[in-house]
Amino acid sequence: MIGKERPELPQVKYVVSACLVGVRCAYDGEHRRLDKVVDLVRRGLALPVCPEQLGGMPTPRPPVEIVSGRVVDQQGNDMSRNFERGAQEAFSICQLAGCTEAILKSRSPSCGSGCVYDGTFQGNRINGDGIFAALLKANHVRVLTDEEFVSGMDDDPSV
Ligand code: SF4
Repeated sequence: MIGKERPELPQVKYVVSACLVGVRCAYDGEHRRLDKVVDLVRRGLALPVCPEQLGGMPTPRPPVEIVSGRVVDQQGNDMSRNFERGAQEAFSICQLAGCTEAILKSRSPSCGSGCVYDGTFQGNRINGDGIFAALLKANHVRVLTDEEFVSGMDDDPSV
């Protein structure tokens, strides 16, 4: 193809929670779609991952919360290994694609950032991060919740 150059592809910037782009991967078998996040994927700027599915958790699955650093369901079954493995796998994808920022579903035991449920399954919230969000932050990936992103906290004018 003489004289024809391939158009430059956009650099993927964000790793995003897959449930935010319409993937039915949430614990209840539903999604948490937000058009503003879907738009990032359509423009080639974002890559969706679900760390819980990548860790081998079924969908739907029992709700879990973080108790003393462990991820447990209401019966006390410890799912921490799945959640840690899924976070590592999702982070590997993030690194492969060169993502430097994340937009993650708020309050999830994997994706929550700055605030999670307190382990009593009563809907109470405490300060803290989900397993995946904590791993990203430890590796200098900037994390925004979906709520922060929708409210315009991302200062990048291209978004
Ligand atoms: Fe969404 Fe993250 Fe939960 Fe997967 S682990 S369903 S991406 S919040």
